[in-house]
Amino acid sequence: MKKITIAIDGFSSCGKSTMAKDLAREIGYIYIDSGAMYRAVTLYSIENGIFNGDAIDTEKLKHRMKDIHISFRIDPETGRPNTYLNDVNVENKIRTMEVSSKVSPISALDFVRSAMVKQQQAMGREKGIVMDGRDIGTTVFPDAELKIFVTATPEIRAQRRYDELKAKGQEASFDEILENVKQRDYIDQNRKVSPLKKADDALLLDNTELTIPQQKEWLFDQYNQVTKA
Ligand code: C5P
Repeated sequence: MKKITIAIDGFSSCGKSTMAKDLAREIGYIYIDSGAMYRAVTLYSIENGIFNGDAIDTEKLKHRMKDIHISFRIDPETGRPNTYLNDVNVENKIRTMEVSSKVSPISALDFVRSAMVKQQQAMGREKGIVMDGRDIGTTVFPDAELKIFVTATPEIRAQRRYDELKAKGQEASFDEILENVKQRDYIDQNRKVSPLKKADDALLLDNTELTIPQQKEWLFDQYNQVTKA
């Protein structure tokens, strides 16, 4: 069957990764979590004194971009992709509240975006890829055959992230997470470069009331319609 490109964009913590990952596994496509790449750059910035308090040393980060190598490797035990930063597995470190609270200002920097977009486009050159993020259908793969834009209320998204952190045994405060979700929505939608917005030809999915199996089925139906057309 002809391979296509699938772009899944939307607000933070609305289950994009879960559905994207499941679909990719089922249809034998590569799955790329583009948010993990921005998170890895953020972690690098925190660990290398580039992000201090609220200030970003943009000149230093610009010079260091060539030293930041991000890759994904499948964990043989779980079968899931882990994010590597300069050959170190940072999958857990990039999901902390500290990184979540600093990632949107880093992602708003034009030189960070252009470096990430270039890598993402190279990963999708052969098609057969499901990528999720904020600008996949608008900037990274504007010609993707299937584009989905996912949304849900901020409260339900915060609850999902809270449950996820708790399940991993991490400390979490619902109010802090809700604040972070709203703050990231705002910065992601209002930044100058590639703001978060639905591509005109993307299908809208509000999954506030949907269970994971329901949204998985919906996505699979969309994939079947596009590939069987
Ligand atoms: O998807 P996730 O919530 O992990 O993304 C973290 C952050 O990375 C987002 O809030 C956004 O600021 C940024 N991001 C982006 N463009 C993407 C993916 C993520 O700006 N394609």
